Amino acid sequence: MNTERRRDGARQGAEAPASPAPERTSDCLFCKLYREGDHVAATDGFVVIRDINPQAPVHLLVIPEHHVDSFREISEFSADEDKRMLDFIAEVAAREGLTDYRVVVNVGPSAGQTVFHLHWHIKGGWA
Ligand code: AMP
Ligand code: ZN
Repeated sequence: MNTERRRDGARQGAEAPASPAPERTSDCLFCKLYREGDHVAATDGFVVIRDINPQAPVHLLVIPEHHVDSFREISEFSADEDKRMLDFIAEVAAREGLTDYRVVVNVGPSAGQTVFHLHWHIKGGWA
């Protein structure tokens, strides 16, 4: 199994080179937004931006610094990162004043994933 971590947000191809160069993050939109986006909140290794095309009154995206293409590669995160990521999602939702909300991760194009850098949608604010 190819466990190479892609850093460019592109789809994995059979001919993918073995060692990703740092500059390959430059053509991943969310790697770029991690570095220079308009962040609503941030903590070590994670940032939050507002979705450019909101599907709810409040629609945030939680983006990890560590590039993985999708939730399928969640095992690349350590247990500590997993916990901090989930805690941060709950904290950001609370900070936005949300009590009821959805946390969504689209995994793969057929499920609606359009940006191939793991991200968590927080959608709420209906009531
Ligand atoms: P997904 O379809 O689950 O991969 O989610 C990608 C999300 O990123 C979509 O909801 C888009 O509206 C959002 N998006 C795309 N480009 C930007 C951007 N430049 N800034 C903020 N959100 C974006
Ligand atoms: Zn990326």
